[in-house]
Amino acid sequence: KQLVIAIDGYSSCGKSTTAKAVAAELGYAYIDTGAMYRAVTLYLLEHSIGFEELPRIEQALHDMTISFKRNRRTGRNELCLDGEIREDEIRQMRISNSVSEVSVIPAVRHAMVRQQQRMGRKRGIVMDGRDIGTTVFPDAEVKIFMTADTRTRALRRQEELAVKGEQVELEAIIDNLVKRDHLDSTRAESPLRRAADAVLLDTSHITIDEQVDFVLERVSA
Ligand code: C5P
Repeated sequence: KQLVIAIDGYSSCGKSTTAKAVAAELGYAYIDTGAMYRAVTLYLLEHSIGFEELPRIEQALHDMTISFKRNRRTGRNELCLDGEIREDEIRQMRISNSVSEVSVIPAVRHAMVRQQQRMGRKRGIVMDGRDIGTTVFPDAEVKIFMTADTRTRALRRQEELAVKGEQVELEAIIDNLVKRDHLDSTRAESPLRRAADAVLLDTSHITIDEQVDFVLERVSA
């Protein structure tokens, strides 16, 4: 049976690394919903659209195309904005610093949730984000909610950024993670929270392989 697997949680807990590996293991599709909110943020910044300019934002949501393209060489799903791969730009700190302000906007959430639900209709899918188990797929068969201590998360994030050539102080990263988690969990529309039926997974002291096994065990259970 083809399942829907929802992986939610705080920023930089290893959600996408785990989700990607689980999807590969099961031959499922993988959707990184955070990449979609990051793409909307990139679009608004590039078009100089203010985060309060609701009519322009609504028009922008109508005009932009967000999609994922599989990179045959790396096997990775890369985010495309208007048909162009923008994977590197959306991961930059300037986007991380604005994305949570953009993702509180109800019109943005409605457009993203609708597109995510369309993408999940095929089933056999692993989706990671903040509201997958609560709003996007409340009836997902497997729901995981990931946490980890702030320092562990910040160190992982710093390493990921360094690999891409962006050197950022640990303090700045911690500040970003804490602010984002606060905004994400206090917004009115589909805030970040654990669904009642989601299994909690603290990744502070476990390896990626253990995280993947934990999810796979839930799938076969
Ligand atoms: O997963 P990632 O850290 O890339 O997500 C970036 C931001 O996108 C989050 O901090 C949050 O503001 C927003 N987001 C969201 N709902 C999702 C996924 C991400 O609001 N399902």
